[in-house]
Amino acid sequence: MRRILLGLACGFSLSTSVIADDRSPVVLRCGAAAVDISPTQFPINMPGGFRANMGTRVHDPFHSRAMVLSDSMTTVAMVVVDNLGVDPEVIEEAKRLAADQSGVPVNHMLVCSTHTHSGPPSNANDGPAAAYRSELVQGIAKSIVDAAAALQPASIGAASHPLADEVFNRRWFLRPGKMPINPFGELDQVKMNPSSSPDVLDRPAGPTDPDITVISVRDAKQKPLALFANYALHYVGAIPNGQLSADYFGEFSRLMPTRLRAGNDFVAMMSNGASGDINNISFGVTRAPREPFEQIRIVASKAADTAWMATEKIKTYRSNVSLAMRERELVLNYRRPTAEQTARARAIVSMSEDEAIKKLPRLATDYARRTIKAADREEDTVTVKLQAIRIGDLAVCAIPFETIVEIGLELKATSGFPQTMVIGLANGRYGYLPTPAQHRLGGYETWLGTNYVQKDASDLIVKDLQEMLAELRND
Ligand SMILES: [Zn+2]
Repeated sequence: MRRILLGLACGFSLSTSVIADDRSPVVLRCGAAAVDISPTQFPINMPGGFRANMGTRVHDPFHSRAMVLSDSMTTVAMVVVDNLGVDPEVIEEAKRLAADQSGVPVNHMLVCSTHTHSGPPSNANDGPAAAYRSELVQGIAKSIVDAAAALQPASIGAASHPLADEVFNRRWFLRPGKMPINPFGELDQVKMNPSSSPDVLDRPAGPTDPDITVISVRDAKQKPLALFANYALHYVGAIPNGQLSADYFGEFSRLMPTRLRAGNDFVAMMSNGASGDINNISFGVTRAPREPFEQIRIVASKAADTAWMATEKIKTYRSNVSLAMRERELVLNYRRPTAEQTARARAIVSMSEDEAIKKLPRLATDYARRTIKAADREEDTVTVKLQAIRIGDLAVCAIPFETIVEIGLELKATSGFPQTMVIGLANGRYGYLPTPAQHRLGGYETWLGTNYVQKDASDLIVKDLQEMLAELRND
């Protein structure tokens, strides 16, 4: 495989690559589709917080957006769903349905969620939410089927460009004496989303990944056909009560056709990167107050500008690009509480005196319930899906967790490909995925009940993905 690196002159090493594979004269084909999956029955719960949060109206539409690529030997579907994190069971149903109707193999479908915190549930079984479950299955499947039906000769490029000022690591070391007791009655070394006061903040406990990476596809007439973007930003939020919104992911997709002067058939989508600990709260930087949805519009607009700048770096769109994909299942052990932790949790949930309950650390009762659930869980293991895709010189990794940013950065640094995209919340959602080093620091993302699997899970996942990428390089 020949690799041509561009962009060095502008100071962005490895920031753009021409996707080229000279071994085969394959002609790439691509199809894209967006299907409206907005809820239509209300009220509907918007999961993602500790309490029920009922949505009564849709502020902006929800979509399942699909891009199908085919090099005649291999066909892959990449799908982005406006949801907090679609349940793996629902994704499997949608994939099987789509495979029956499109011929795209189930193990060549990547279905990820944006992680909007103001969206409907995916796998509830009564009332409006149950009706939504079936709309979601049908909608995800239809987006793949429609995209596959729209396959046409295409050319492709990939590049990245940084948008550093909208990503913040939300895990912080605090000044002496400022760390509150955690829900387990212990003292962590770092805190998620601390007060922004300089009296409290010491330093962030991890880095950020500023890059927006794009896969840009054009049709035979060189008109924009699809754009698949990725940014390591959890979500923006600050949405008024009761309203459902696709957050900045939806707004980005709405703006992108204008940025690229694209026609009506063009589909843009923004996937969630390794953003488990990365949010849009400007710790230590004073930001003016915003009206509802204003910050979403600001971030989406800057992300769309940045994605446009990335596409401007793509000097040549190639149609002789070959595709390959790997899927692996990994068995992980569930974390179990110690006997002591379980006993404490049972004591907390059986408390009845208001005064005593008030004295507990914040969220102690919520995490006591989660601790008991983890102790009582019948299954010892969970099987998760990992995927890696090669699109010419671009590598795509898919991880079914809220993935801590260091994991994404490590995969990008070690992939052996000039350009690597790391997608979180792909093919399911199994809680947070911290590194063992972040586990040692503690904090929300590492707590039992926010994190569910063995503490070295990220090492196993990175190792598996690196092996899969090596296989793809040698394919
Ligand atoms: Zn989250």
